[in-house]
Amino acid sequence: MYLLTVTRRFCAAHHLRDYDGKCANLHGHNYRVEITVAGERLDETGMLVDFAILKAACDEVLARFDHANLNELPEFAERNVTAEHLAQTIYRQIGERLAAPGVEVSEIRLYETEDSATIYREG
Ligand SMILES: [Zn+2]
Repeated sequence: MYLLTVTRRFCAAHHLRDYDGKCANLHGHNYRVEITVAGERLDETGMLVDFAILKAACDEVLARFDHANLNELPEFAERNVTAEHLAQTIYRQIGERLAAPGVEVSEIRLYETEDSATIYREG
């Protein structure tokens, strides 16, 4: 099994609904996302997937979140913008966009602050 990880960053605003604490107020984070993909076969060049292709898929997804108020996005019309929900959303959207046969998103590690991260995996 081969794993590749790329790190991307974006800034966004959010607030938590039905939450008793200061995060109920609109505020921002400098999010850091580590996207890990996995697969068992390398191409004829010896790559699982070109880092440039992986980064492009990640940037396509994250562009919608950068400098946005995440609460206003349709993905979060019904769900709270927690780090957990955001990591799951990023996982699935990158999975849909990554056109690399035999390569799956393995893990999203989303840092809301330097000290606090959530990890999302499926399967
Ligand atoms: Zn927050």
